[in-house]
Amino acid sequence: MGIGEIAGDLWRNVEEVGETLTAPFSDPVIRLGVTGLSRAGKTVFITSLVANLVDRGRMPALHAAGGAITTAYLQPQPDDTVPRFDYETHLAALTSPQPYWPESTRAVSQLRLSLRVQRQGMLGVMSGPRTVHLDIVDYPGEWLLDLGLLDQSFTEWSAETLERIESRAEAADFLTRLDGSEPAAHFEETTARDLSTAFTGYLNAARGAGFYDCTPGRFLLPGEMEGSPVLTFAPLRVNGKSSRGSLQAEMERRFEAYKSRVVKPFFRDHFARIDRQVVLVDALGAIHSGPAALEDLRGAMARILSAFRPGRNAWLTTLLRGKRVEKILFAASKADHLHHSQHPQLTAILEALLREAKDRADFSGAATEAMSIAALRATVEETLKHDGDEVSCVSGILLDSGKRAAMYPGTLPEDPNQLLSVARNGEDSWLDADYNLMRFAPAPLRLKRGDGLPHIRLDKAAQFLIGDRLS
Ligand code: GDP
Repeated sequence: MGIGEIAGDLWRNVEEVGETLTAPFSDPVIRLGVTGLSRAGKTVFITSLVANLVDRGRMPALHAAGGAITTAYLQPQPDDTVPRFDYETHLAALTSPQPYWPESTRAVSQLRLSLRVQRQGMLGVMSGPRTVHLDIVDYPGEWLLDLGLLDQSFTEWSAETLERIESRAEAADFLTRLDGSEPAAHFEETTARDLSTAFTGYLNAARGAGFYDCTPGRFLLPGEMEGSPVLTFAPLRVNGKSSRGSLQAEMERRFEAYKSRVVKPFFRDHFARIDRQVVLVDALGAIHSGPAALEDLRGAMARILSAFRPGRNAWLTTLLRGKRVEKILFAASKADHLHHSQHPQLTAILEALLREAKDRADFSGAATEAMSIAALRATVEETLKHDGDEVSCVSGILLDSGKRAAMYPGTLPEDPNQLLSVARNGEDSWLDADYNLMRFAPAPLRLKRGDGLPHIRLDKAAQFLIGDRLS
């Protein structure tokens, strides 16, 4: 990277930090990042968090230190070119007479919620209420995986990707096409398009099959860049240096353009400005999919979390210039699929899943916490009798049939390593246990005045993430 490029990045960064501090008022701003892999629960989390901050009846564990939130209201968000998180549409989906799950995160979006906070005691009476802006930034975890690409050349990326996918059934079509192409051949746009379409097809199929190592992340969620050259490349069987005008030379160029025009701007414009972060993990979903999915999730999470240890990446370190995410919450989402008696086991599995990444560094001094949450509680707990035993279940309305059913998802082990070691050993199935999950629809709501959406531990999550800044 040239000095000019570094300087350009830094200048923009300084400018943006300045904007956050001064505009539109000088009230304090908390930038809360919400991420997680596709379908981890980001959209539902943000919708419920905002609804529960506006109507705080179900948020007893959120208390501003020495103060209280008196009002919360949405404001136009300050970043004019970033799409707004479609809160109203998502909330309408969850609160309609026949509620349904909202559409999931496809790209970065943002929302500003302003909180009026009244300090208690004499000081509060004298100083009056003050305003704290909460800027919530929703972005796909897949985009964080792309950070690893910055350290790789096209040749290295191609070799690593092909080695990983060689044995996967989902990649068969792409690999056949790849064998029919010659990296040294004269570049043809149609060849590039065919290869990249097949490669994107592979990524989507792999994602559907439960693999999480699906980079480049923007191929899965292309947005307005769909069909553009930065998204029209694929790994090749590179053998030596590329020659001018060859397929390999152009693929190399596009790979580099992807890094500088897609990956870096995301980190510079969004990631570098986050103060607090929640990382949602659908650990239950992975356990249900089997050992391979859990092992794959572990690997993907380790790579995602390396973005929060900027020492690992020279470019990111320069960009951040010592700015840190102050707090990171790791949340096992959709915990309403489990009876509360099993929540500690789920949290322990999440902690063990992230242990490797957490042990290697302490996220540069960020405070971290793990908990099991449900942003929207779609079930109620029930105790059923089965063969004379009492079984702790959850029940709700099934998404597919619309019928009410009780579910016992299986017993999570006290020792999380019982699951993780099976996953690491590459077993096909859990040895002596079975984990079932049913997908529930959101339950129709009858909300009392002042109550937000029903949840599990969202107030504790909010307290950890922002409670200290609300005084
Ligand atoms: P995103 O891709 O990270 O934005 O994921 P979403 O927020 O769209 O969630 C994906 C799906 O997970 C939803 O459509 C729901 O089926 C399910 N889900 C998310 N949060 C919850 C929750 O708190 N409880 C339950 N039961 N299901 C949830």
